[in-house]
This record gives sequence, C-alpha cells and structure tokens, in this order.
Amino acid sequence: MDVPPELLVPSEAYGRGFCPHDAALVLDGWLRRLAAQDARGRLVLGRLARAFLRRHGHHELGFGRLGDYSRERIGLSARELQSLATVSAHLERLPRLRAAFVEGVLSWAQIRLLAAVATPEDEAEWLSRAEGRTVRALAAVMRTPPDGDDDEARFRLRCPRRVRLLWQQVVELARRMAGTELTQSQAAEAIAAEGLSARLPCDESWPATEAPRTPPADPDETRTVFAELDWSAIREALPDDVDGLDADANTLDPFALDARMRAVLRAMRRVDWQLGRLLRVFLDRRLYRLMEFPSAERYVTERLGLSPRKARALIALERKTWQADAFGTAYRAGELSWVRALTLLPIVAEPTAAAWVERAGAVPVRRLADEVEWALTVRDGLAPIAPPPAGASLALEDRQLCTRPEWEFPDAEVAFSAPVSVVALFRTAILAFAAHSHASLIEGLELLLLYVKAEWEGQPRHRDPVFARDRWRCAVPVCTARRQLHDHHVVFRSRGGGNGRENRVTLCAWHHLRGVHAGRVRAEGEAPDGITWEIGVRPGRRALLRLVG
Ligand SMILES: [Zn+2]
Ligand SMILES: [Zn+2]
Repeated sequence: MDVPPELLVPSEAYGRGFCPHDAALVLDGWLRRLAAQDARGRLVLGRLARAFLRRHGHHELGFGRLGDYSRERIGLSARELQSLATVSAHLERLPRLRAAFVEGVLSWAQIRLLAAVATPEDEAEWLSRAEGRTVRALAAVMRTPPDGDDDEARFRLRCPRRVRLLWQQVVELARRMAGTELTQSQAAEAIAAEGLSARLPCDESWPATEAPRTPPADPDETRTVFAELDWSAIREALPDDVDGLDADANTLDPFALDARMRAVLRAMRRVDWQLGRLLRVFLDRRLYRLMEFPSAERYVTERLGLSPRKARALIALERKTWQADAFGTAYRAGELSWVRALTLLPIVAEPTAAAWVERAGAVPVRRLADEVEWALTVRDGLAPIAPPPAGASLALEDRQLCTRPEWEFPDAEVAFSAPVSVVALFRTAILAFAAHSHASLIEGLELLLLYVKAEWEGQPRHRDPVFARDRWRCAVPVCTARRQLHDHHVVFRSRGGGNGRENRVTLCAWHHLRGVHAGRVRAEGEAPDGITWEIGVRPGRRALLRLVG
C-alpha cells in the first residue's frame, strides 16, 4: 500500500499543469492513509513496549536506564516509548475506543487524549463527545495540551567560535553539576538561574522579542470550522509487514521483544519518509488553506492526528534528503533510526553525508551525538565537516578558547530550542551581564558564561583522576549516567587485577553492581580507549551488542 511513485517527486516537480485543488485532494487522501498506517503501527509498538517495560527488559539487555536502551535500540525517547505503552494499556480495557481506533474512526491525536481519561463505564460517552469535535476542542475539554504543542521558542545568537566553545564547555559543566544528561535547553535554564542569582536583573528588553502564542481553545469547536471534507474512516491501515508482530507479546523474552520492536520500527520508517515527502509538498504549497485550515499545525493535528513537532521533523528530514544524497538513500532504506537521523540532521551536507551515515551505523548514539556536537563546535562557519577520525578524543582544549584575534567575526552561533520561559530567562541573564559592563549582547553572553564557569568550577568536588579521565560519565558506551559513579577494576582485584589507571574505569552504580558484577555486561582490555564491551550477555549466544571504546 505504498504511495504511487509519480506522487513521490520533489516539491519543485509539482510545476506545470499543477492544479492545486486536484493535488490537495489526492495528496490529502494519501497523507491520511499514511498517517493511519503510522497510528496503527504505534499501537503494535505500544503493546510490545508494554510487555518489555513490565519485565524491565532493558536491564536484562544490559542497559541501566530505559532512555539509553530506547535511544540506542529503538530510536525513540523513553518518554515516547512509555507513552505508547500507556496508551496500549488503557485501550486494553476500553474495547469501544479500541474498535473505533482500529476502524480508523479516531486518529492517534484523539485516541491519545481519550485513552487517558475514559473508563470502561464512560467510554461510550467520551466516544460520542469526540465525534465531530476538533482535537483542540477535545483537549480543551480535558485540559490536556495536545501532543507536542507546548510553547517552544528558539534562542539564536551569532557569535565568534570562541564564545561557542565556551558555551559548550559550560553546558558540559552544567551536566556534570547536575549529574545527568541535560539538554542544551535545561543547561541554559541552569546557566541563566546561576547568572541571575549573581546580579540584579536589568530592565533592558531583548531586541525583537517574539510574542508568546496563546491559542484560544473553544471546547465546543467542531470540524465544521473547516471546509466540507470527507472525514470517513480509513480502512486497511495496518502495514502488512507489521501485522502480527505483537502476537504473544507477553510470552516473549526481552531479546525477542527487542527484535520485534525493531522490526515494527523498520516498517514504520517506510511510512515516515513517504509521509515527509508528501507533507512537504502539501505544506510548501499551502494546500491546507484550500481546505480552510487556518494553519499547517491545525491541518496536521486535526486531519492527520500527528503532532506538529513530528511533522516539522519529518519535513526537515525530507529537505535534507535532497541536500545530501547518501543521507537520503540511507533514510529511505530505513537504515537510520529516528534518533540517529535527527542527530545527523544539523551536520550532514552533500560532501560529508556518506561518511556521517557510515559513522551512524558504526557507533552508539551516545558517541554519535558527541561527535556531532564536536563537529558543530569546531567547524569553520557553516562549512561541511567530516566526522572526526574513529575513536578520536573529542576534548576541547582550553587554549582553543584563549586565542583572541584582534578582529572577530561571528562565524558560529549558540542556538537551541526551549520553552518560551527558559528562552526569556536566558536572554534576561545575558542582558543583565551586558548592561552591567556596557557591552554588546555577544559580550554579555560571554561574561555570563565566564561567570557561571568560574562559579561552578570553584565548587568543591572530590578530585578523582579516573572519573576526570572518563569525563564524569559511566564508561559503558551506551550509558549516559553521571550520578553515583563507581571506580571499577577491569580485571577484578580478586583475580589479581592491578590498581593502575589502565585497569580502572568509571561505571555508574547500576552498570557496576547489576551490569558487570551480575554478568549482563562484560569488559575486557585497557582503559580508557582499549576496552571491549559486551552488553546484553546471554549464555550460549552472542551478546546483544559488542562495542570498543
Ligand atoms: Zn567492580
Ligand atoms: Zn552506566
């Protein structure tokens, strides 16, 4: 049930003889079918995820944290995997809602909202309440924000590369301080809080502030606000190769569940790229307007039941496939998981795509993300940059920060997405530092970062050469834990292992006690770079993963 190839052409090819009304109808029809396939696939995944989570499958597979497992093996965040499992669990006891979903009457956006509130007693009532209502109205009734619709804003400031390097150092420091893998947005929040506690906030306002979005939601809004459209159910939506993958989920061991979930995801990636391609044409040409949808977000949520965030990501990936061939080929072939594809997105360009794709297949997501972050930091302006040599140290040296040329060009930038409030706070902190020294915004950012860095580095923390060498992070290549670190002897002391640094490695408490010493994870070789890790060790068969580094 794939989209006909003549429709899957680049956006620009819809040129001569293009009739927007015809195209809108045809594309809308295919988009709805693809979105329905996507939704049905999610339910299969949800059922497998539930069986997996119930058994804490990630532990058996040698992962201390669910997030590390899901990112590495499934290509989704832990939150997403848990939410899929929760929806599937709810639907198990809500037969009417379940049937309506399977018949295609309810979209994913609707079922996600309804599953959270309905009970076996009132599900019929909820079903009739949902009928004809918009997703936005349904969310307003329940006071639940629609998926992915939290107010995100973007922070972006062009600056010299030196300041960008400093930013990355302080973000890294924030992660170490918090003992957890903060996102840039969370780090920015911590930096702003530290900076603002130092001085009085100033009254300056940030240039060109964006107005916050406040979507008015009428709980009684119905689909009649859009053009008269066919809203009837989509049949045969389950992709063939997904059918039956959730059979007997509760009898499978975590290794088998892992394999099944990966098979579902592989099938779903074919749906994803087709969805992205058609969506791009549809949104670039603003065809949703012909259907009287006020915005692309509304079309995506109401008509397709997708979150706007997912739609934006699909389109960004789709654009990139035309700018970097090797990336496009791998993405369409399903060789890149969702997380790996998104990790590569900011860095791949035509000349470097093949190398990056190859790297994505060779290293764990944790290392891939480190390499991309490194490349974004050291590259020359926006010039394409290849991955670092395999296994290279990615430490940024202090002296790279100290050289200060007479003339500095803003050839780099600090940029991240965060909730509106965090961006506002971060800007306020920069302004406070800039105003205090009568400096520019760039200098304000630099002063803020230098202040926070000095403040955090000055805090007492026991000095440990092994932890410092391993960058205060568990050394298992798929783990992101930074808390409760232990010093482990690769060759156990009880077996005559020495106390030299090459025999010592940083492990999180889970990987130490329940991984290595419980036989789920095996380590051999010399620290720091010569250790061969086996993760998900099982008797009589190969381990789930074997990694060096
Ligand atoms: Zn140990
Ligand atoms: Zn660990």
